[in-house]
Amino acid sequence: MNPKSAGKGTTAVHAGVQPDPSTGAIMTPIFQTSTYVQEAVGVHKGWEYSRSHNPTRAALEAALAELEGGTAGLAFASGLAAIDTVMKTLRPGDQVICGQDLYGGTARLFRTNTAPLGIEFIFVDTQDAANVEAAVTEKTKLVWLETPTNPMMQITDIAAVAALTQPRGIRLAVDNTFASPMLQRPLEHGADIVMHSVTKYLGGHSDVVMGALVTKDPAIDAELRTIQNNCGAIAQPFDSFLVLRGLKTLHLRIERHCANGRRIAAWLKEHPGVGKVYWPGFPEHPGHDIATRQMDDFGGMIAFEIASNSLEQAKTLVASTELFALAESLGGVESLIEHPAAMTHGSVPAEIRAQLGINDGFIRLSVGVEDVEDLIADLEQAFAKAGV
Ligand SMILES: *Cc1c(COP(=O)(O)O)cnc(C)c1O
Repeated sequence: MNPKSAGKGTTAVHAGVQPDPSTGAIMTPIFQTSTYVQEAVGVHKGWEYSRSHNPTRAALEAALAELEGGTAGLAFASGLAAIDTVMKTLRPGDQVICGQDLYGGTARLFRTNTAPLGIEFIFVDTQDAANVEAAVTEKTKLVWLETPTNPMMQITDIAAVAALTQPRGIRLAVDNTFASPMLQRPLEHGADIVMHSVTKYLGGHSDVVMGALVTKDPAIDAELRTIQNNCGAIAQPFDSFLVLRGLKTLHLRIERHCANGRRIAAWLKEHPGVGKVYWPGFPEHPGHDIATRQMDDFGGMIAFEIASNSLEQAKTLVASTELFALAESLGGVESLIEHPAAMTHGSVPAEIRAQLGINDGFIRLSVGVEDVEDLIADLEQAFAKAGV
């Protein structure tokens, strides 16, 4: 099924899954097996060893590829394992241009593990594609983007960056975790590789850690698949099954995340104790026009600062919600609240946090799919307890 012909919801329900040929089971079974019996040496049904291939993982990989409008998907043990796989396509002396406001773990991987191998990272503000262009040298092999970013909700114009990378033979990879393919399909805008922390919206139920890569370029697919098999950071069959199940309601969940996000963003904006609210759906958001063009809606991730910028008040607030769970991660059915400076972005150097605006009073919400009135009532009581 092609997402261009079928609707996104139809694709979410059907992508990748076919009735099991041996039983007719409508759901892809969990092929919890490490190996496959061969009839004679080298005579087998296409499956040899589960690091290389597994039917449950293959069904999920096909589904992820369809959802992103790609031709090949790969599922990994975590989002970071997926990113690390892309890093392993690089060689000493290569240069990567990447966004400044990256997921904390991504920036940590780049700085701590990839840079020491002789790969240079240039962190630029990708909200203006001209900054990417200015950083390009003949050593540039990859541009790595997040849009919207975590946690500042900055928007980068994927097509504008692709217009710079494509003619130069530089690969463009986009971390599409925050948007999910329901809201944004980077391959349609010229990206070469889409990456997901499947842990978040795609899994959607806070019960799996997984990553994915999708491409529509057979040469890139072959390169990534070789690394996946050689290095072995694969997604497991049971986890693949859980995500296949999660994908079937992705469109419904995302619709509700977006509707709830819209209401809560508006509520925060009106609250006298709240300073800036970061949500790309506001017309005054600097990336609003690009987001309107390249996304189908604005999602359920919202960041805001409390007007006082008091650490004490921020800590009390995030500890006082009852429905919003105080936790890292995002994209699950349940709402989460967190303090990025002390939690998810603690590993980001303090001066970079300050530069981005991740200050003491800065709070991030992952708005879930509960009844929005209950979520707002919960925030109201927590704001009151914190004296915000
Ligand atoms: C969580 C996350 C990752 C890392 O994924 P894991 O599944 O935790 O390894 C990467 N990018 C973004 C935007 C994320 O939110």
